[in-house]
Amino acid sequence: MHEGAIAESIVDILKRVKAESSIDKVTKVRLKIGIMSGVMVDALLFALEALRTEESIIKETEFEVIETQVKAKCNLCGKIYSYNDSTDIVMLCESCGMPLDIVEGKEMEIIDIEGD
Ligand SMILES: [Zn+2]
Repeated sequence: MHEGAIAESIVDILKRVKAESSIDKVTKVRLKIGIMSGVMVDALLFALEALRTEESIIKETEFEVIETQVKAKCNLCGKIYSYNDSTDIVMLCESCGMPLDIVEGKEMEIIDIEGD
């Protein structure tokens, strides 16, 4: 994944939000990042930090990242498996041997934005 590009698109979204609302500056952004999204949280925060000097909109923004665990579901029996670590993921249902569908844990989204 290209965390630099993701950081830039986050800034673009914030600029759009700012243009459409009455906020002058963004004080806090909460991001939801699935542990299977392929996004390296540290690298993303580093990229955002690097953009801070050139993008005044995030000059004083606090970024909070909430990492979500992975949920996988068996299509046959409906059993849900949860994983806190992507290395633990078993891709087959323990009871049916059917491939599991990842239903959560791949997302990367902005939960909410606070501004003044
Ligand atoms: Zn099953």
